[in-house]
Amino acid sequence: MANGGRARPEDRRVKGYERILVAVDFECCAELICHRAAELAARYGAHVILLHVVEPMVMDSAYDMLPVISPALDEELVARARAQLGRLAEHSGLAHQAQMVVTGATKAEILRTAAELPADLLVVGSHWRHGIGRLLGSTASGVVQGASCDVLTVHLGDAS
Ligand code: AMP
Repeated sequence: MANGGRARPEDRRVKGYERILVAVDFECCAELICHRAAELAARYGAHVILLHVVEPMVMDSAYDMLPVISPALDEELVARARAQLGRLAEHSGLAHQAQMVVTGATKAEILRTAAELPADLLVVGSHWRHGIGRLLGSTASGVVQGASCDVLTVHLGDAS
């Protein structure tokens, strides 16, 4: 093969999505993201996995100035996140689909979960940002840069 055995873009067949990972926080627009994902899942006959990441709140006791928060608090946050994700799934018509709550850094956990499943489409919300918010980036831009599958960013309006 002239190109050293690699598939050429023109050789790749267009195929539908099979596993759609939908990353949600519990902000007001989470249902809109779920509805977009539900539409696509219906169109392609795909499975949906709803994902929420809980950022751990346990602080290192080396920082004397900060209170050390019990790991039990993280467990409580995970339990609450599970309940909230269940409600969101129900309101979005996705109650029969898989739900995951994991702990860690949001962008890294979204990317890790997408790679592990593996997902062939990742759906996240995206706000238009100004100033420092734009410089610092967002979950959506980090995910777009790091993902090895297609990413749909659902526009959620202005974050200013
Ligand atoms: P943000 O960058 O915080 O405006 O978030 C943009 C999008 O990233 C959200 O609409 C979600 O799709 C996703 N996202 C943010 N935080 C989380 C989280 N804790 N767990 C899962 N997805 C999240």
